Amino acid sequence: IPAPLNGVVAILRNNDMLTWPEKIRFGIGLIPAMLQGQEYVEKMDRYTFSEWLKKQNVPPRVEKEVFIAMSKALNFIGPEEISSTVILTALNRFLQEKNGSKMAFLDGSPTERLCQPLVDYITKGGGEVQLNTPIKEFLLNDDGQVSGFLIRGLNGAEDRVITADAYVSAMPVDPLKTMLPKPWQQMEYFQKLNGLEGVPVINLHLWFDRKLTDIDHLLFSRSPLLSVYADMSNTCREYANPDRSMLELVLAPAKDWINKSDQEIIAATMAELEKLFPHHFKGNSPAKLLKSHVVKTPRSVYKATSGRQDCRPSQVTPIANFFLTGDYTMQRYLASMEGAVLSGKLTAQAITKASSANASTHLESHANLQPTTPKPAKNAATV
Ligand SMILES: Cc1cc2nc3c(=O)[nH]c(=O)nc-3n(C[C@H](O)[C@H](O)[C@H](O)COP(=O)(O)OP(=O)(O)OC[C@H]3O[C@@H](n4cnc5c(N)ncnc54)[C@H](O)[C@@H]3O)c2cc1C
Repeated sequence: IPAPLNGVVAILRNNDMLTWPEKIRFGIGLIPAMLQGQEYVEKMDRYTFSEWLKKQNVPPRVEKEVFIAMSKALNFIGPEEISSTVILTALNRFLQEKNGSKMAFLDGSPTERLCQPLVDYITKGGGEVQLNTPIKEFLLNDDGQVSGFLIRGLNGAEDRVITADAYVSAMPVDPLKTMLPKPWQQMEYFQKLNGLEGVPVINLHLWFDRKLTDIDHLLFSRSPLLSVYADMSNTCREYANPDRSMLELVLAPAKDWINKSDQEIIAATMAELEKLFPHHFKGNSPAKLLKSHVVKTPRSVYKATSGRQDCRPSQVTPIANFFLTGDYTMQRYLASMEGAVLSGKLTAQAITKASSANASTHLESHANLQPTTPKPAKNAATV
């Protein structure tokens, strides 16, 4: 069924979570977003989603039943913090795009199934990927443009400089802010980055001695501690196991947990799982945790609280040969992998446009010469 009918039918048929009056009130609340589209959605950035729901007279139970889970899944924070723009943008995608709400899993580890194919693609196209190449400093010319990237030498190696026609930072916003050269720090464009900061999140991998669920899908939890999770033994071919579950869970909001020990985090998560799967953890033979792994990310994606949209930079910077990319730069797919990919495409377009413009200026100043097709930048250094 095409969007938005697929979403509308799903919502109308689900009576487990919301009552009819709640659905109707929420539907009425959404009318301005449906009629005015993204322009309205962007304006709502000044409200948290809790504030927006109150403003639209949506009953509080709707927030508790549906939007705590959605908010934590989208940005690892609750509706009392998240910008309305984030939730409304996601809802708009669900309503407008047939596959907007489709979920998919990699069939193996991201290193092999996501990163390696990217490297292969770049290498095949004549590019080069250098790993373990951390940038130490943006080197500048007298005019403030980039003259090179200073790369930190690892394991006793000398630092070295990479030069290029165009330079791109694909670092997250937090390390970028610490690396801005002094002359750039005064510029309004770069000063706005101070309004962006990564949100803490914790990821857990838990291996059990038996199957806890057969659901082959992403699961959204309304638990105050947990966010989305999945049984990878069902959803991911590489971890497939008909007898034992391997859960991957997101713990969010994580600000009160990020400094706690792995043991404390696992104990709290297990207590939540006992509530989610009571029949597996009670009785004479409760499920046993065989192995666990905790991954803490103190600063992950930018925290999309209300008012952040104004701080997100365009991919084009005031420095002619320096560009930004990454999910925090302005693009419409939020803080996500798709957002990161889209930002990369926008940056590539911006570099092509800038190099065409440079070539045209060059041609104009040599008006007697035969015009030729402008050459694209042939060497863009991206960290
Ligand atoms: C727990 C968790 C679960 C998530 N789940 C999902 C999901 O299910 N779906 C989804 O779409 N998104 C998900 N995301 C979000 C997704 O991971 C991000 O939106 C995406 O990775 C952003 O990509 P990016 O390229 O902008 O930044 P990043 O992926 O953060 O890449 C930035 C890179 O810069 C590098 N770097 C930093 N400093 C330097 C330096 N000095 N020199 C050189 N390199 C440097 C880093 O090592 C890193 O590789 C999740 C995020 C987390 C933390």
